[in-house]
Amino acid sequence: MNLFGLSRSDLLDLVRSHRLPDYRARQIAQWLYRHHADTLTGMTNLPSELRERWADEYSVDSPRPQSVEESRDGTRRYTWVAPGDDIYESALIPDEDRLTLCVSTQAGCRIGCRFCLTARKGLRWNLSSAEILGQYRNLPERDRVTHVVYMGMGEPLDNTDEVMKSLDVLTGEWGYGLSPRRITVSTVGILPDLERLLDESEVNVAISLHAARREERLPLVPAENRHPVATTLELLRHRAQLGLPPFPGTGRRRLSFEVVMLDGVTDRPDQAEAVRDLIRGIPARVNLIPWNSFPGASFQPSSRAAVEHYQRILKRSGITTTIRESRGQDIGAACGLLAGKDHAHMSPDAPEVAAVGLRGQPE
Ligand code: SAH
Repeated sequence: MNLFGLSRSDLLDLVRSHRLPDYRARQIAQWLYRHHADTLTGMTNLPSELRERWADEYSVDSPRPQSVEESRDGTRRYTWVAPGDDIYESALIPDEDRLTLCVSTQAGCRIGCRFCLTARKGLRWNLSSAEILGQYRNLPERDRVTHVVYMGMGEPLDNTDEVMKSLDVLTGEWGYGLSPRRITVSTVGILPDLERLLDESEVNVAISLHAARREERLPLVPAENRHPVATTLELLRHRAQLGLPPFPGTGRRRLSFEVVMLDGVTDRPDQAEAVRDLIRGIPARVNLIPWNSFPGASFQPSSRAAVEHYQRILKRSGITTTIRESRGQDIGAACGLLAGKDHAHMSPDAPEVAAVGLRGQPE
């Protein structure tokens, strides 16, 4: 069994099952997530007799990146290999004083959004919490990362148990200790998993809305069938009224709605008005995402003018509305382009990669 990726309660269960005192769980967590230990034998404050006894049964395994590619704008795309050879990817996006890591939660995805390239692969593999966390742990730039977004391949709430574990480790004071305010999970909105995300974590949440009206969202996001956005909005409105998470009382925790901007499909003024009406009464912001095109898609990206007009309509009603800058497009690292196509032209043996430390062992 792999110790890497275990949450606090997993580690407590483990030590208790061996009739060890609870503080051993904290010691193991520190080795795993503070000292980045690679082996059980290196955990020197555990009794040597215990380490020997456990050596056959337990391991410390975190995936290493297979390749990295760098965009003209400085965005890097990392490729990782799941068992069965399925590829998953992360994007590392530098931006002035931020360094944002975008992680995958699945290899492929089964939600089937029509405008997303990842969707074309279908679901290949649910990432374990070790595979989700490995994208952070074994990133050469790890210690400079300021923000983590769950916006890579996959639908986080289609792999909820592993995603929750990974959030627990990322934000736990005994884990990596990142502030939950700097972490965002993006989802199409799957109930009741969304409630669990809201109640059991403190991270920011982004809902992929795209269109307010069912008949307009359904052809874009087939999951609308089983997980109608109207139900999600009802839940959020109810929580806003009661002041339940993620709403007041919970600090600066942020809720946002994402709308991918497709020419004539999602970007019309009447659609902006429908979004405005839908989210009325819910303290949230809107993030407009210019669509990143790929061959074979039957959409066109919206004009800048249309995006800005859409933004103005929402802003006029007092809704904070931002336009996401597209990054890493030239290397397929932008939103919705992560598809595990192995067009990385840099192998881990390339000198440039060695220079960014891909082969170095994180200490
Ligand atoms: N599965 C999660 C995370 C997806 S990535 C979700 O749906 O929320 C984050 C955002 O990128 C989502 O809003 C998704 O709809 C959007 N997206 C997908 N393909 C895109 C593309 N080709 N161009 C721009 N945004 C895209």
